[in-house]
Amino acid sequence: MEVKLAECAGFCFGVKRAIDTVYEQIDTGKTIYTYGPIVHNEEVVKELEQKGVHVIEDKDELTALAAGDQATSSGEGARQESQNAAVIIRAHGVSKATQERMEQMGLECIDATCPFVKRIHRIVEKAGKEGMHVVITGNPGHPEVEGIKGWCTGPVTILETEEEAEKFTVENGQKVCLVSQTTFNYNKFQYIVEIFQKKGYNGNVVNTICNATEERQRAARTLAAEADVMIVIGGKHSSNSKKLYEICSRECAHTYFIQTLDDLHLELPKAVRLVGITAGASTPNNLIEEVQNYVRINF
Ligand code: SF4
Repeated sequence: MEVKLAECAGFCFGVKRAIDTVYEQIDTGKTIYTYGPIVHNEEVVKELEQKGVHVIEDKDELTALAAGDQATSSGEGARQESQNAAVIIRAHGVSKATQERMEQMGLECIDATCPFVKRIHRIVEKAGKEGMHVVITGNPGHPEVEGIKGWCTGPVTILETEEEAEKFTVENGQKVCLVSQTTFNYNKFQYIVEIFQKKGYNGNVVNTICNATEERQRAARTLAAEADVMIVIGGKHSSNSKKLYEICSRECAHTYFIQTLDDLHLELPKAVRLVGITAGASTPNNLIEEVQNYVRINF
């Protein structure tokens, strides 16, 4: 029986970079905070917690942290405390106001925003300064989209569907700058571009969709189509992992979704020739290797 890993699986470039940043900072001995879990994978977050990395969940917690600092510290003590703490911004990025808030608190702000997301921040900031109406295609509740919105300096609209794009209007003659959440569906983005072209809008269209997601999905689909059993490893809150599971299930009836090796209860019939494995962009390599080795040794 063969065990095969999908061509692209596990951490994408941006997530790996953000996690490496956290590990580098742990070694400095500072108190480390991450703004939101660094990655949608409970195992990784748990491991980091054990190393003393704290998660700030939202703006309220950030404010509470600032208030706590002010209430409990004063003078030289406060200065030393803030000098010895750092907040790491994860790959999704944050709004300009949130970043400024962190800096005002006196915390060292380490920006691990994925460079592909940072590029979108720069595009929308510039477009706003040039008087354009920024349109972001994406999920309005997603932290990456909230972050991008927070770099806009003028009018901004978030669109998730073609219907919303049909209804969207701009003031006479105003130029439009269209960008996208990095994980948005490419076909949907293209439809929205066509709708805007039909409406005759002027301005910029910048395809900011990252191909890490697309590559993972394509590789998972190809492997699932030839595999007898498919294992998808990912966090239960990771939307890209769930999407991989959906894609693999369509191609392979025996698809399992697991978070860790403990969730894997495989009963393989003798006829199985190929077990395929893939993993979401937030799944660490050691977990992938563990599952791979387990299947190789035990079946
Ligand atoms: Fe960066 Fe792409 Fe990974 Fe998002 S999916 S963190 S844009 S590399």
